[in-house]
Amino acid sequence: MTFPGDPQNVKLTTAEDFARAQAAQGDMRTGMGFDVHAFGDGDHVMLGGIAIAHSRGLTGHSDADVVLHALVDAILGVLADGDIGSHFPPSDPQWRGASSDRFLAFAVQRVAARGGRIAHLDVTIVCEAPKIGPHRDAIRRRIAAIADLAPDRVAVKATTSEGLGFTGRGEGIAAFAQATIRLP
Ligand code: MG
Repeated sequence: MTFPGDPQNVKLTTAEDFARAQAAQGDMRTGMGFDVHAFGDGDHVMLGGIAIAHSRGLTGHSDADVVLHALVDAILGVLADGDIGSHFPPSDPQWRGASSDRFLAFAVQRVAARGGRIAHLDVTIVCEAPKIGPHRDAIRRRIAAIADLAPDRVAVKATTSEGLGFTGRGEGIAAFAQATIRLP
């Protein structure tokens, strides 16, 4: 049989062939992340490193960027390297009001330190408001810039929860993220 993902399209007949193809492909892993922040006072929210004008802000120790926080955990998940809270404890005053750009940059640097390469980052934002669509491409470009990726390797989707649950009641925003990374 042939292995469609292999650049050389090697004929795989023996266990040795499979092992060789697998080594060429590297150790492909996926990790997932999830985060929630509650609405509070404010006039904008930070989502994916972009400030979006809104009648409320998000509360949190840092800038409460749920999108970047979920992405950080997805990447750390691939590395089996703890979570955002273990690297940036909320009890540490130096992260108060911190821009979450630096958390994502940190996680990306941990991937590089392991010789890894990010293939794809994928995020789903759950909220009734603000509307994400008009900002989608700006968010994608910002995440790609922080993670040093081509924008076509970053996907941003948004959905409401049809009025149900805390997101439906407009109490906060949730984000789910997935990272696909090739490790050596
Ligand atoms: Mg968070």
